[in-house]
Amino acid sequence: MSVPTSTRAAVLIEHGKPLHLTELPLPAEVAPGAALVRVSCATLCGTDVEIWSGKMSFPGMLPMVLGHEMVGEVVAVGPDTRDALGREIAVGARIGWSESTCGECHGCVVLREPVACSKRGYGFLQRSDVPPYATAGLSEYAYVVPRAAKLLLPDAVPSTWAAMAGCAAKTVLRAFSYVGGLTGKRVVVQGSGALGIFATAVAHISGAAKVITVGAPESRLSLAGEFGADAVVDIALGSDGIVERVRELTGGHGADLVLDFAGAPTVGAEAVAMAAQRGQVVIVGTTGPVSAPLPLGTVMGKELTISGSLNGDIADYHRAIEFFGAFADRFPWDRLFGTPVGLSAASDRIAAMHRLDEVKAVIDPRLP
Ligand SMILES: [Zn+2]
Ligand SMILES: [Zn+2]
Repeated sequence: MSVPTSTRAAVLIEHGKPLHLTELPLPAEVAPGAALVRVSCATLCGTDVEIWSGKMSFPGMLPMVLGHEMVGEVVAVGPDTRDALGREIAVGARIGWSESTCGECHGCVVLREPVACSKRGYGFLQRSDVPPYATAGLSEYAYVVPRAAKLLLPDAVPSTWAAMAGCAAKTVLRAFSYVGGLTGKRVVVQGSGALGIFATAVAHISGAAKVITVGAPESRLSLAGEFGADAVVDIALGSDGIVERVRELTGGHGADLVLDFAGAPTVGAEAVAMAAQRGQVVIVGTTGPVSAPLPLGTVMGKELTISGSLNGDIADYHRAIEFFGAFADRFPWDRLFGTPVGLSAASDRIAAMHRLDEVKAVIDPRLP
């Protein structure tokens, strides 16, 4: 098979408007450490929807190709292209990939935190009108840059799950890695999107005494029930109602651990109000600049620990793949995903996620 020199891609040119199906160039040569991949599965993330709608926006970010959870088959490799574990990547291999990091900045070298890389290449950070053009999921072919975190994927993990591991699942596992053991704890998960439902399952598997998922609409809350929620609380109750219901469900104590995977303006204040004495609060889903003020007197009086968790790195990604392999039969993971559609229907699926009609859309760019 000859190596393609261009690719069909769905490009976001203007926020809130349908994606533009167009042809993008591909780099003429595959550099050492890089790969050219035919994308077989891209799953959409809440961030893709926020970028599409314009809720998340900054000058100079467009045009871009959405999709940062993806899997594909390698069609060309540069010299010495290996995955993050040092395994050789050959033509025909099925790989997933995630952010690229520079290895030279303060975040990479001093903090040793890939998520803090000042030149992180990830989803919204890569324009489609400058080389290497097509690096994201909503593209028939994608160029995987030399410093992108790549993983050869085990056969036991389906492509939808492996794609989701690239952002949603790794983000959840990183957040849990900061809070220690869950055995016997009362856990509240704020949010019933893909992250919230996956977090509900992780908390359940990790031995939480009780997992309470707060969200909406009803269809997602009932899905949370299938993924290990012992109780669900509808946000239609309003802040006071939500907090009161969580107190009831925890015998008046509140939650030992509250994780935000929702990002609504009121989640911080609600988390503090529903946390138990000496409880922990982890903020994971809040991306916007505007939020309700935190009642700091409560933070002090309850001696709460509040921390943030940003996305995830290659270690979290690897653990997410291992997690799906280990717990493949534990929950009906396929229920999180929509029916695969081609690039021409991607706009429609993003709009469906925006309306909360779909938890996680699946795009297979090989489809018409
Ligand atoms: Zn994401
Ligand atoms: Zn860096």
